[in-house]
Amino acid sequence: MSQKPAYKRVLLKLSGESLKGDYPGVVDHDAAHHIADRICEVYKLGVQIGLVIGGGNIFRGSQAERFGFARTPADHVGMLATTINGLILGQVLSTKGCKTRVMSALNFDGIVDTYNWNHAMHALEKGYIVIFVGGTGNPYFTTDTTASMRASEIEAEVLLKATKVDGIYNKDPMKYPDAEKYDHLTFSTALAEDLHVMDATAVAMCRENGIPIHVFDLFSKDAMLRAVCEKKGGTLVTGDQ
Ligand code: UDP
Repeated sequence: MSQKPAYKRVLLKLSGESLKGDYPGVVDHDAAHHIADRICEVYKLGVQIGLVIGGGNIFRGSQAERFGFARTPADHVGMLATTINGLILGQVLSTKGCKTRVMSALNFDGIVDTYNWNHAMHALEKGYIVIFVGGTGNPYFTTDTTASMRASEIEAEVLLKATKVDGIYNKDPMKYPDAEKYDHLTFSTALAEDLHVMDATAVAMCRENGIPIHVFDLFSKDAMLRAVCEKKGGTLVTGDQ
C-alpha cells in the first residue's frame, strides 16, 4: 500500500461509542489506545488532522425524555460529554508522541481552550492534532454536523467518518446478510435514499462545500491509512460529477 498521503488536511469524525469498543462502561483502555494508534499512523505521514469526537458513550440529548429532562439541558450534558472524550483522547494521543490541542465551542476556562478559528488554523499548520469538542456549542445539533462545520472552516479536503462497519450498505448488514456495500455514492443518492451516512444536515453541508465524506471501519486494519493514502476501502461519498 502506498504510504504517500493523498490529502494535506483532513477532518476525522469519531463517535463517542468508538472509545468504549465492545465493552460495558464509558471508555475502554484498549479501544482508546487502538484509536490513538490508528490516528498516529496518519499523523506520522505529516497529514494535518482536525478531529471531532461525539459523546454518545456518556450521554445523548435524545435521552432527555426518558430522564424527564428538558431537551436543552440534556444537550448541554451531551456537549459536556464530548469534552470529556476529547480530553481523554488528547491525553492518550500525547502519550504516543502526537502534539494535540483541545478546543471547545463552549467556554471551559482553565480546562480547554475556547474554539478560535485563527488559533485552530495556526495549530494545524504547526502539526498539532486539533480536537474540537463541545459540538457546535448549540443544543439540537449533533457532532456529525459539527464535523461538517469544522471540516468546512479548516478547509479540510475530506471528512473521514469512522464507524463500526466497513462502509455504507443499501440496508442494515447486521440484520440482512444480503445487504450490499457501496464503494462510491453521490451526496444526492445518499440524501435521496436516506442511507444514514451521517445526519442529513452534515451531508448537505459537505455537498454545499464540496467536501467528500469517506466512511470506513476504524477497527479494521489499515482502513484509515488506505482512505488517506489511496482514497480506497469503505465508501466514498462525493459530488455528482
Ligand atoms: N450535542 C449538541 N449540540 C452539538 C453537538 C452535540 O447538543 O452541536 C449534544 C447532543 O445532545 C448529542 C450529544 O451532544 O446527543 C453527543 O453528541 P452525538 O450524539 O453527536 O455523539 P456521537 O453519537 O457521535 O457519539
